[in-house]
Amino acid sequence: MLQKLETGKDRVLLRNARVLDVRAGSLNTPANVLVKSGVIADMDAGKSSVDCDVIECDGLTLSPGLIDCHCHILSPFIAEQKGLPGLWMLRQIRRNFAAMLATGVVCVRDMLSPIKFMNYFRDSINEGKIPGPRILAAGPVLSCKGGYPQFIEPVPALIAAFIGQPKLHLDTPQEAASAIRDLKKCGVDIIKVGYTHLNADMEPDNPLPVISGEVFDAICKTAHSLGLKVGVHHFCAQDLSEILRHDVDSIEHLPFDRALSSDEIAFVKKHGVRVVPTLTMTESVMRFEEKSEFLNSAWASDIFEPNVLQYLKSVAASWLDFSDPNHLKSFGVSRGRREFHKYVMRNAIQLREAGVPISTGTDMGAVTSFPGETADEVRRLSCIGLSNPDAIRAATLKAAELLGVEDKIGAVEPGKNADVILIEGNPLDDIDAVKRIRYVGKGGCWYQTKHPEAPDFWHGFELVMKDAG
Ligand SMILES: [Zn+2]
Repeated sequence: MLQKLETGKDRVLLRNARVLDVRAGSLNTPANVLVKSGVIADMDAGKSSVDCDVIECDGLTLSPGLIDCHCHILSPFIAEQKGLPGLWMLRQIRRNFAAMLATGVVCVRDMLSPIKFMNYFRDSINEGKIPGPRILAAGPVLSCKGGYPQFIEPVPALIAAFIGQPKLHLDTPQEAASAIRDLKKCGVDIIKVGYTHLNADMEPDNPLPVISGEVFDAICKTAHSLGLKVGVHHFCAQDLSEILRHDVDSIEHLPFDRALSSDEIAFVKKHGVRVVPTLTMTESVMRFEEKSEFLNSAWASDIFEPNVLQYLKSVAASWLDFSDPNHLKSFGVSRGRREFHKYVMRNAIQLREAGVPISTGTDMGAVTSFPGETADEVRRLSCIGLSNPDAIRAATLKAAELLGVEDKIGAVEPGKNADVILIEGNPLDDIDAVKRIRYVGKGGCWYQTKHPEAPDFWHGFELVMKDAG
């Protein structure tokens, strides 16, 4: 998917690049941009700066790389995996990293992974041993016994000592505070809370348990005292008002059980939270069978291990067949329930109209959301009415703010990391340009992409608009 460029020198000149100024929402005239030790040093360097490698940009647009604020980047994509994990799993994880980078994603916020397992991988990326995006990680999801995600259980202590926990059950404020202090020591960058009453059967009479209000407050208080933000997973409208009674920083996903009332929308706006609607996830869950064509593409063979691809094909083929045993229980009922997606789209549009800040997130790794869809999420945000500059900001400048890394990435400016993409066209006029990625720079390394365009996952992308209407 990527070809690493041999840039032996510490200085790289991007010759004749048009800088996308995401702050101003404008595209500059071509210039020569000098990068030194992976950091943007000069936005208007001479034509032939001495002692540097040169990338001929020929008028390509130099944009900050994309940021995906909701991923599961260590996902092996096989939900009902039986037996011991195999080497294919490690290979799939490396493919996930490469596919994200090859489609312009220079940074992800991972929203559920055993933190020690994650640290192993992100150390390898940071040391330049394997190509991949910068990863900010939540570690385990904080919940209670039987609470969301009900299909994940804490692992035995002996295993957790090596890889970390995927989920913590917290019963008291003291437990919550001490768990968060431990997580901070282990290197988590954000705290994720799983909070939804809605069960996979979508029956309100059969709700999931949630953490108590006291525990929730202790989580927010301790996290903030340690400089960690709190992101909350939820699925249903009623939960949203409960969640917003606590001092949370972001809402992950949108209610798909009903449209939010205008009072509820106003409440979200007043609270000042940022929303990561993960439209890619809901659309993928509701329409996964429509991704089957993509699974036969050259891109799919690059992204997925052969056994994973086989599995995904069988899932897609049987997606609407509820009697098929080859199904994903966690998403089982929501399959094919298109009205859920309509609610999500309506809620997203209403929140956008109210001026609630929105960021890109695909939920990549949640089986139906694939690596490489972040650029399409940007397009989806433009479908719900964000202007092109705002849709791009949602994946760059504003996403960096949500992640607390705006001093390093999210804009092409002197002193910022050259975690950037060189794309064909002007995304301010044509949002699809974010898919036409030629080069990716990240952590001082430069890559040329093999495919001229990020994948087409859908043969009917405009269906998004139909649902929105
Ligand atoms: Zn998720």
